[in-house]
Amino acid sequence: MVEKIYTSCTLDCPDGCGVIAHVESGRVIKLEGHPDHEFTKGYLCAKTYRFPRRVYSAERQLHPLRRSDSTTNSPWIRISWDEALDLVAQKIRTLKETLGPLSMMHYQRTGSWGVTKKLGHRFWNLLGGVTTASGSLCSGAARAGQKLDFGVRLGHDPSDTLNSKLVLLWGRNPLATNLHLVPLLKSVREKGGRVVLVDPVKSESATICDQHIQPRVATDAAFALALAKIILSEGLEDKGFIEKHTYGFSEFRSLLEKHSLQDLSILCGVAVSDMQSIAREYATTRPSSILLGWGLNKYKSSAEIFRCVDALAAICGQIGITGGGVTHGFDTQRLFDKRIEAAGRAEFHRAIPEPLLGRGLMAANDPPVRMMFVNGGNPVNQSPNSNLVADALRRLEFVVVVDSFLTDTTDYAHVFLPTTTFLEEEDALVSWGHNILGGVNPAIEPVGECRSDLWIFQQLADRLGFGAEMAGSPREWLKRILSPMEERGVSVDVLLEGPIRCPVAPLVPFADKKFPTRSGQFEFIEDVEIAPRVDPAFPLTFVTNFSKKWLLSQMLETEHPKTASVRIGPDVAQEAGIENGQIARLRSSVGELKVEVLVDPRVGPGMVIMPVGTWMKRGGGANVLTEDIMSNFGEMAAYGETRVRLEMIEPAIEAGNTRSQSSAS
Ligand code: SF4
Repeated sequence: MVEKIYTSCTLDCPDGCGVIAHVESGRVIKLEGHPDHEFTKGYLCAKTYRFPRRVYSAERQLHPLRRSDSTTNSPWIRISWDEALDLVAQKIRTLKETLGPLSMMHYQRTGSWGVTKKLGHRFWNLLGGVTTASGSLCSGAARAGQKLDFGVRLGHDPSDTLNSKLVLLWGRNPLATNLHLVPLLKSVREKGGRVVLVDPVKSESATICDQHIQPRVATDAAFALALAKIILSEGLEDKGFIEKHTYGFSEFRSLLEKHSLQDLSILCGVAVSDMQSIAREYATTRPSSILLGWGLNKYKSSAEIFRCVDALAAICGQIGITGGGVTHGFDTQRLFDKRIEAAGRAEFHRAIPEPLLGRGLMAANDPPVRMMFVNGGNPVNQSPNSNLVADALRRLEFVVVVDSFLTDTTDYAHVFLPTTTFLEEEDALVSWGHNILGGVNPAIEPVGECRSDLWIFQQLADRLGFGAEMAGSPREWLKRILSPMEERGVSVDVLLEGPIRCPVAPLVPFADKKFPTRSGQFEFIEDVEIAPRVDPAFPLTFVTNFSKKWLLSQMLETEHPKTASVRIGPDVAQEAGIENGQIARLRSSVGELKVEVLVDPRVGPGMVIMPVGTWMKRGGGANVLTEDIMSNFGEMAAYGETRVRLEMIEPAIEAGNTRSQSSAS
């Protein structure tokens, strides 16, 4: 008999789908979308329809492993959980007593958005505090920028998109990364509204838009300022909104006066007449919304870029109105009961910014970092300057990785602890892409000897003498973490039965025109560096994007593309003398890859584009090339500041990461 079990997809994706798992004889045989989920409405993406293949893959590691000797060159051998946990606990104890807790680093990322994953932080805080990672690899600058303008980053509920008459889809590619937004955009158009894509690449999402505007890569701030300049020069601004609800308008006006429209047009590569046309349409169409994507969130000035777009919306009064706003993400996790992280128990504090992980690890002293514990992440593959991160991990005495697969990071690990997937866990999901809360029910028993992150931390806590403070079932912990929601009528028990709308998330943020900023008003940006980084030795901007076939680095080795490939536009191809399908060397100041070059007329000038996530040990790894540069605000990895050049090589040489191949051999 087939049993149907409700759960939610906790992968690091904005859609946060409701899922129905079909289970027969203890095995998941099929996944489908939960029909009652308000946003994801009964369907999933191809990645998750295929997810059972990942759960039952022969590549998945089902038992704890350790190296056969103390080096990471030695083969893995299977060990029992007791042996693995004793080994890790003993190392923690020894380092705490000898070098102190800061000699250990806890690195946790968002491989799963399960709510109980927060308890990893509790464990290390109860231990007394260790070195942690601060900042972000993906959204820190957006959060920081919008916090300065609005006081908090709060998106319009996706359902409010239906009220927009004009949607600017800016640096976002929903057909690849935000699939459930697509029907909403189609509805806007069916009702007579327009959807305009603003993107340096004519992505597949151009096919669901009325118009595509193609600014040069990394010139979004200049483009936003140009539109604002046109609107003000033509008197199309909302004077009432500016007067009553904003702060710093004269400084913003001075910022605009620093740049001529002609200069901005040349910088963006968009004709003045085209900018005038979209500026007028945006200012005079009410309501108009702007949906910002991850394409803007890759630069040193990303927070400022977001602020320029926010300012554009503010001068038009498109803030706090139904169908308006500037939406990027949702920080619903701010509503958790933060006390569960036990931050007050951490006597010791030291943080290495994630974007600077490699050099931060190497530079840390007094005490140096000797051990790293990784869960929910693959820092070697996903951090900028991957080779430097790998070098830093190679120098550590002891690396523990909690994962399901042997990744680029586990190559530097001494102990591997196999974790569960969302199909084997009880948890909850609070999405960063909408306001619907999801329940996560275990559809099956853990495969093999896999165990949840929570179980692993509880077992370690038992061995280290604070087991009682980590004890509790997932459901008990959910009740504690989500108690602010429970107080507003959302019980965890009900949440685990089906998707529920978050009771405290507004459909239209700032409708009361109250902003939790210093002034209590929307605050304008005063200054921004608008010119992209230039390096004559590396003339091209390197852009990493997300594939629709895999999520970050979560792919099976057997699904891995045979060769790493990049896309360039015809202008770059002509300048470099490269033909479609040719193998070339792509070089940045920190690394190089041999890649197959695909010439794609949809790619704008001056850029090379490559999906993130391919594995270094399989010849991929875009972050072999990315430079470790941090955003001005929000401690975010500014991957898009990376400059590269293409070099011709003999066609006979195979594609791959020369450095990682040689170091792995
Ligand atoms: S990866 Fe995203 S779109 Fe796909 S099922 Fe999971 S949440 Fe939904």
